[in-house]
Amino acid sequence: MPIFFHDQLLFGDEVAWAQYLQEHFYEHDQFVNIAAAQMPPIILPAYDLTSWRNTTDFARNWLLTHESVHQQLRQVSGVAGVNLADVDLGKESEFYIWIDAHRTEHARLRSAFGITT
Ligand SMILES: [Zn+2]
Repeated sequence: MPIFFHDQLLFGDEVAWAQYLQEHFYEHDQFVNIAAAQMPPIILPAYDLTSWRNTTDFARNWLLTHESVHQQLRQVSGVAGVNLADVDLGKESEFYIWIDAHRTEHARLRSAFGITT
């Protein structure tokens, strides 16, 4: 079972979102550690992706930071992905499309990094 197990949630569920952010960060941390253990090591920046505030500015900054992390992961893994910063998470329809795209990319990254559990 992957660390990022709760990779889907209902729009507006604050408790589930907090859990989502936590597990999601653990998986990003796992990617950083696996890359660093390669020979030669691949050094990826380790950002804190657990902080969250329900403001437009905070969400925008979080999404941009997170997208830059995913861009680097795509470069080292060869996994393709859409621009994950191009979303308004406050809109229900966009939220679900984003959750799906993000979930799919994380699953592909797990495979690329050899995470099979
Ligand atoms: Zn992510």
